[in-house]
Order: sequence, then C-alpha cells, then structure tokens
Amino acid sequence: MNNLLETNITYLKGVGPKRAELLKKELDIVTYEDMLNYFPFRYVDKSKFYKVRDITTDTIWFQLKGKVSNVTPVGDKRTKYITATFSDDTGSIGLVWFRGLQWVKNRFESGKEYIIFGKPSVFKARFNFVHPEVEEVVEGEPLIQGNRLEGIYRTSEKMKNMGLGTRSIARLMKLLLAQLLEVIPETLPDYLIKHYKLLSAREAMMNIHFPHSPEMIKKAELRLKFEELLFVQLQMLIEKINIQRSVKGHIFGIIGSFFNEFYHQHLPFELTNAQKRVIKEIRFDMKSGKQMNRLLQGDVGSGKTLVALMSVLIAIDNGYQAAMMAPTEILATQHFHSVTNMLRDMNVEIGLLTGSTKKAQRKVIHERLQEGKMQLLLGTHALIEDAVVFKNLGLVIIDEQHRFGVAQRARLWKKNTSPPHVLVMTATPIPRTLAMTVYGNLDVSVIDELPPGRKPVKTLQFFDNNRLKVIGFMRDQIKKGRQIYVVYPLINESETLDLKNLMDGFEQIQRDFPLPDYQVSVVHGRLKPEDKEYEMKRFVEGKTDIMISTTVIEVGVDVPNASVMIIENAERFGLSQLHQLRGRVGRGTEQSYCILMSGHKLSNEGRKRLEIMVKTNDGFEIAEADLKLRGPGDMQGTRQSGMIEFKIVNLAKDGLLVGKTRSVAEKILDKDSMLELPENKRLKAYLAKISKRKAIWSRIS
Ligand code: ADP
Ligand code: MG
Repeated sequence: MNNLLETNITYLKGVGPKRAELLKKELDIVTYEDMLNYFPFRYVDKSKFYKVRDITTDTIWFQLKGKVSNVTPVGDKRTKYITATFSDDTGSIGLVWFRGLQWVKNRFESGKEYIIFGKPSVFKARFNFVHPEVEEVVEGEPLIQGNRLEGIYRTSEKMKNMGLGTRSIARLMKLLLAQLLEVIPETLPDYLIKHYKLLSAREAMMNIHFPHSPEMIKKAELRLKFEELLFVQLQMLIEKINIQRSVKGHIFGIIGSFFNEFYHQHLPFELTNAQKRVIKEIRFDMKSGKQMNRLLQGDVGSGKTLVALMSVLIAIDNGYQAAMMAPTEILATQHFHSVTNMLRDMNVEIGLLTGSTKKAQRKVIHERLQEGKMQLLLGTHALIEDAVVFKNLGLVIIDEQHRFGVAQRARLWKKNTSPPHVLVMTATPIPRTLAMTVYGNLDVSVIDELPPGRKPVKTLQFFDNNRLKVIGFMRDQIKKGRQIYVVYPLINESETLDLKNLMDGFEQIQRDFPLPDYQVSVVHGRLKPEDKEYEMKRFVEGKTDIMISTTVIEVGVDVPNASVMIIENAERFGLSQLHQLRGRVGRGTEQSYCILMSGHKLSNEGRKRLEIMVKTNDGFEIAEADLKLRGPGDMQGTRQSGMIEFKIVNLAKDGLLVGKTRSVAEKILDKDSMLELPENKRLKAYLAKISKRKAIWSRIS
C-alpha cells in the first residue's frame, strides 16, 4: 500500500515532467508523500467579511465585499499598472495591479459585487490593496472563497511562473488527498494517540491542508509536530543506546600523578564548583566502561579549556593519548600555547598540527604519535587526515564552534580500533531545544558559573557620528594601561571590500592614535601566519595598545589586560558572534567595556540584536533570543541557518514539545529499548523507513 505514496509526483494529474523537475529543485519534492508533507506556512481566515471603515494597519489580511469602479490603466504608450477603486457602504480604498494587466482590464463589470481579499498598504494617505485576490459574488451559488480557512503555501517566483502558485498547490493537494487519504499510514501507536489526545495521521493530514476550523489547525499541527519530534528523539536515543551496547569504552580507572600534580601544584586558581562538577561527570563516564559521548556547554570565559585539559590529564594518567581539535588555526595555536604554558613544569609531550605545519615537522609528529611518545596533539581539521595515526588514542576533544559535523566526528572515532571517548565543547551556549535535538545523542554537561571576581562587561551602543566620544574614551583607557580590540566584520561577499574597510579603519586609527604615544597592531586573513603570529604576540605581550582585526580574534584569544572591545558595523554580526567577541574582554580584574558601533540605518533584526547585547551578558539567554529572532527561516534560508530541517517544527517556538517528546521517547525506550513489543510496532516500522533517508537532522552547518 505504501507504493502509492512513493509514486513519483510527475504522475499526478496537472504536474508532468517539467513541473516535477521544478518541485524537486525548489522544494525537494519527489514523491506523492513528499508533496503531502509540504504544509501551508500560514492560513487566511476567509470566514469573515470586513467593512472598508474597519481597515487598520494592525490586522494583516482583510476580506471585503463591494463594487469595483474607475479601472484605470496608467502609463503613456504601454500600460505600466492599473488602479481601481473599491467601495462598500462605509467607504472606499484603492486597488493596484502591476502584473496580469490584460486580465485585470476586462475583469470588472460596473454594478456587480465582488469579494476582494488583500493586505492593506498606505499610499498617498489612503489604504490600497496591491494585487488583491478577487472573486465574483454569484447569487445563489456558494462562494468559493467564503466560509473557510485557506492554507497558503510558500512558492517561488519560478514556481508561480510555471503555474505552481499557492492556489495550484492547494488544488494538487486536494487531488492527492482524495487518492491517498485511505493509505496514509498511522505512525504512532494507539496508546500514544489516546494518552496525548492526538489526531490520527489521516485527520491531521486532512486538516493541515484543508482545515475545518482554527482549532483543527492547532490540533493538526500538534499531532504532526509531536510525531516529527518524537521520531527525532527516538533516533537519537537509539543511536546512543546502540553505541553503548556495541562499543566498549576505554576504562580510565585511575587518577594518577599527572592529574594530581597539576591539580595540587600548578593550578593557578581554585576551580569553580561548576568546573568541579563537570570534571566529575567526565571522569565518571571515562571509567564506566562505556564510550563517553558528551557535550560540554558553557558560556564564553567559563573555563572550558581547563576542564578539557584536566580530562586530557586523566587520559594520560591511564596511558592513553589525547587529541584536541579546534575549528581554526589561530584557535588551535592559542590552545597549544595556553596548554603548553599550563603544563610547562610537567613532563607531557604536546604537538601542534595545522594546515601550515611544515612537512618535516609533520613527519616528526606522525612518528611521535605512532610511537605513543606524543601524549597530546592539538590542531585543526588536519587531525583527521589519514596520515595521522595514534598508538592509542583514548580521548578526543572537539572545540566545536558549530562547525564540525557528525561525519567529521565519526572520522576521528575511526582513528583507533576501539573508539576514544569524545567530548564536544561549544564555543557559546546553544539553546536547550537545539542541544536536545542536534546533540540529542550526546550526554550534556553544563558549566553554569563564571570564575569569581569577574566584573560583568558593560555594553554600550554608539552611532558612527558619535565617534569622537568613543575615541576620547579609548585614549582614557589606554592612559590607564588598558588594551583595546577593534573588530571589523568579515563579509564573505567581497573579501577585497572587507579588507579595505579594515585598512581604512587602520589608517584612521593611526591618525587618531599617533606614534609614538600609541602602538597599533593589525591582523587579518591576508597576512601570512607568521606575521599574524607576530602581531598577535605583540598584543598579547602588551607591546601594543590597540589590536585591529577581522573576526579572526573571535575564537579564543586570551588577553586579560584587554578591557575594551570595539565592534565596528556591529549590526552585521550575528548574536552568538557578538557574544563571543564580547567574551574576549572582561577576563581581568578591571571593569571592561564592549562598544557596539553602527550607522543610524538599522534593519529591524539588526536593531534587536544590538538591543539584546546591551541588555544581557548571559550567553544562554542570548542563544534563546537568537533562535527566536532567526526563526524558522525562509524557504531556502532554513538550510543555511544551521538549524535542523523540520517539516513543521519550529525549534524557536516548540521548545516545550521538544522536552516533552524527549521524555516520551525515553520512557518508551526504557521499557522497550529495541521496540520489540507489539504495541510499538508502528514506531519501529516508521523508524526503519526514515532511517533509510539521509539523516539530515544530524547535520549542523
Ligand atoms: P572558555 O570557556 O570561553 O573556553 P577559557 O577556558 O578560555 O573559557 O577560560 C577563560 C579564562 O578564565 C582563562 O583566562 C582561564 O585561565 C580563566 N579561568 C578558567 N577557570 C578559572 C577559575 N576556576 N578561576 C579563575 N579563572 C579561571
Ligand atoms: Mg574556549
């Protein structure tokens, strides 16, 4: 019976090869089933008529009944657009068309009644509907539009041109549902449907496309979201169970001299309680006999590196090697320096492997690793190259920065006959709902405490025309002995332009902060690694007052004496980037500042981002706000936004349901981890079906 669902969409009446190709290209729709799973993104309520006098700008869509007059083509030789007047017994508004003009011209008869439906805009102090939907009122015949909710499907310009506008899609859906409703399988067990008062799969499918009432839309959405999330959670949890069953973890049974010596003699400060707790959790995993797969979340500056380092020492204590992978060369190098520094009095062999490691050096590293002499290897993606072979890799730490996918992690696991423990660290917090889904197969540790004595960074927003004030403030701070970062955004569109922005800024700053009173360094992507290194070093050592750079410093440099972060064109940065940048200051004992520079012209979203940054320092709060702001993204946008592709779930809004379905999934698997009970037959069957498709939700951009 499923064959019908898998029929190629070409064969649906009204589609054919050309449209099928477009559907595949634009919406990834191939089969009947894919099509059914393309849901409206909103609904319009056409069950109610408004009067012209009721129109306001705050309600968005209006349906009116009345007469159309003054149909006027505008334009000299060729008609450019057409205007008309719509009126009822309470007043009149304008109508405007820019397309389909031939059709509009002959459309209206004076004296006849029409239903129009549209979104008001204000033009010349008057309300207008641009491209309203129009229908004739025919006495005695039921209205096509009246009295129902209509689903609106997202379509592209190309689709509209090929006769695949929202109306056409609705027509196709109607055809499909007529053919398929009977064969749509139920995927949820009856006991779940009953307990959570869910609609059946068929009812949900019917109502999501052609709802009977607003309440039914809600119910249909709930049912479909529940299903979608439950299966993601089941997949994640089953993956976790399978790993735990099939994979033996190295047992790090002892805490030995490396850990103890470091802890008692070299630790420059007391660990925070959160750090202690997390180290315990990691330790417990690593001695359990199971392979650790843990996500470590913590705000910028919460001391994740130290936790990583102490975990490494436990691995070394137990005779294993460890690897730590960072997303960029600068960050890897920074880790290398800080780890080498922290372990300087201990006998640990540490290597650094990045894209720019020289061949000869590389060879030495390969050898030392294979012999088991090198205990800790830090680096970038270079670590997952095949040539890198460890003698006995016991622990892998990934400083994620949202850039490593599951596939890459898997490659690291393959570097040994039995897989190492894995600790994934996020650079900034990610929203709980996202963590539960994208990283749903990992255990989670959270550092929810900053080291003591940190003064919260003060964040201020300045418009470009207030720059003089900012310069005065910078001079003040430098006089007090502080150092300053000035960061320019890096927009991929034009590297040359970015660099020009940065270099212009550099020149301006050299004028405002002249030698010999001020020392300025500059770092950007075009510099050779050794030059970058040199400039960074001058700043780290306090030899320069100002460090100008592109976002390269976003990732992890640690200069406690730097207390001011100036972010140019701040509106161009994403929230987590801004937060990460701000985390570069506030690491010493002095009051620190983050200054967000921007022009007056800001997009709504840009303005909101800056507001959030000024309002809070809490990375977890910012992560949630970020998710809400970005929302589910637009048609193509979702894919790039780094979020999981859901058919209907919106992680920004459906957080509660994520948590709920996770615990439902846990309960089911607690009782029946292989889904072998008859009552779970449907779950098992549907899981088998979806796991055949590519596991898109495990990918993060
Ligand atoms: P992140 O979590 O952002 O990676 P880091 O590991 O870079 O944070 O730590 C930020 C700074 O805090 C570093 O300078 C580090 O030495 C310091 N630090 C870490 N743990 C503590 C602690 N328990 N007490 C004081 N300072 C700490
Ligand atoms: Mg870090």
